Amino acid sequence: MEFDIAFWFCFYLAFFCLSTYLGYQKGNLIAGILLGYVLGPIGALLMFMSKDRRHIECPSCHLEIDRRSYICPKCHVQIGLRAGAP
Ligand SMILES: [Zn+2]
Repeated sequence: MEFDIAFWFCFYLAFFCLSTYLGYQKGNLIAGILLGYVLGPIGALLMFMSKDRRHIECPSCHLEIDRRSYICPKCHVQIGLRAGAP
């Protein structure tokens, strides 16, 4: 019985860490911690599917690039000055 509790605790903790890490990667650390803490594996999954706030998609070639970059490294389209940029 004690083994079961330890197993599920580690299982939960692993997803908590994963969710926190995904939150950090997406520039949304607080949401990652909270989702991982409250929902465990489901929170990690939600965090995985959530929108990446650090990256934007190139309007021309749909490559994920840094939000702060002005020119797409793949197709060299200017991105930073387009209307409605976040
Ligand atoms: Zn591009």
